[in-house]
Amino acid sequence: MRKLAVKLQGIQRRQLCRVSTLSGLQQEWEPDLNFLVPASSQEELRQLETLTQAGLSNVAAYLSDSDATLQSAMPAVIGPPDSLEQADIITLTPGSKHAHIIYRQSDLHHSLFLTNRCNSYCLMCSQPPTQHDDSWLVGEALQLARHIKTSPPLLGISGGEPLLAGTALREVIDTIQDLHPQTCLEILTNGRLFSQAPLAQALLQDLAQPVRWLVPLYGHADFLHDFVVQSPGAFEQTLEGLLTLQDFQQPIQLRIVLIEPVLRELSELCHFIARNLPFVQQVALMGCEPIGFALANRDLCEVDLRAWQQELLAGATALRRGHVPYVLMNTPLCALPEELWPDAHRSISDWKQVYAPECQDCAVQSSCSGLFAWHERGWKPTAIKAISMRQIHEQIH
Ligand code: SF4
Repeated sequence: MRKLAVKLQGIQRRQLCRVSTLSGLQQEWEPDLNFLVPASSQEELRQLETLTQAGLSNVAAYLSDSDATLQSAMPAVIGPPDSLEQADIITLTPGSKHAHIIYRQSDLHHSLFLTNRCNSYCLMCSQPPTQHDDSWLVGEALQLARHIKTSPPLLGISGGEPLLAGTALREVIDTIQDLHPQTCLEILTNGRLFSQAPLAQALLQDLAQPVRWLVPLYGHADFLHDFVVQSPGAFEQTLEGLLTLQDFQQPIQLRIVLIEPVLRELSELCHFIARNLPFVQQVALMGCEPIGFALANRDLCEVDLRAWQQELLAGATALRRGHVPYVLMNTPLCALPEELWPDAHRSISDWKQVYAPECQDCAVQSSCSGLFAWHERGWKPTAIKAISMRQIHEQIH
């Protein structure tokens, strides 16, 4: 999510707006959507004001804070120039000095945030949960779905724990599938509440299309998984949830975050998955995001992945032998054994991905996930070292 320093003028309530243009507005305008239209001259501002006087009350102007000559009589947002793209979706909150771009069409990864509440308390949670009622976020998620101009190939729903929204989650799924039938929907959930049959039935019965469920599993036994998610009973509930998803023929990606207690038992966990959960579509082995609770639990979460090559290879081998597809995510190539390079994906969302100065001379930068933007407050997944063309040739031959 990108943050802009702004001044709001005449915006009376919190709202989502789609960024458009004067000419685009004619095709895009709908009474139930809100629009933000950049105006760079007095003439463009006059045309916008004429439109609002004619009844388009759901349009605000976006004015550059570097041009004090533009004075607007209509609702306006004054902010940095050249910071918006067409079809961006932006939240405006009266009284706030910031606006947030919550959706950018040109990004590779898109997600929709449903709640900050959670029923687990994972050691490495990147978004520490809160308890307060944030059910209004469901309404905002529905608004976001309506404001998306061009259906993205992939849209994620995350939290917190989205299943805590209960049956309202079904409304969100149905709305997205109705408005964006070509979009593949992925939901990140700990899956525990799928152990409750009535809720599972309400969420999964007769979906217009399957959803891809991204479910973390951190151990082959309760002592480990329950410890990592800091919730007794979670392992049993998660397994029940996974079997329920399989009953409803939903595709599942299991997610394993590579922190120390998990890496110690990674081979066992991958054997467990191959033996007991062979129906999962994919397993994602993921580098830990150095933010949130991971910083507080640094002794357990900070690892140099190059020191765990044997464990990574043993886990990957167990999955391969069990015919369970796997990928590596958030793992720079220089942190991995070369045998695993083909399985590593460029997975970090655009707005939070950076490269280190060492990456400038690296031959594989274009296919490397790079680093989380906030690694400097935390740690790097290994000592970053550029890969040369020679290393690549040696690997191929
Ligand atoms: S040097 Fe940078 S670009 Fe190259 S593999 Fe490492 S992190 Fe990726």
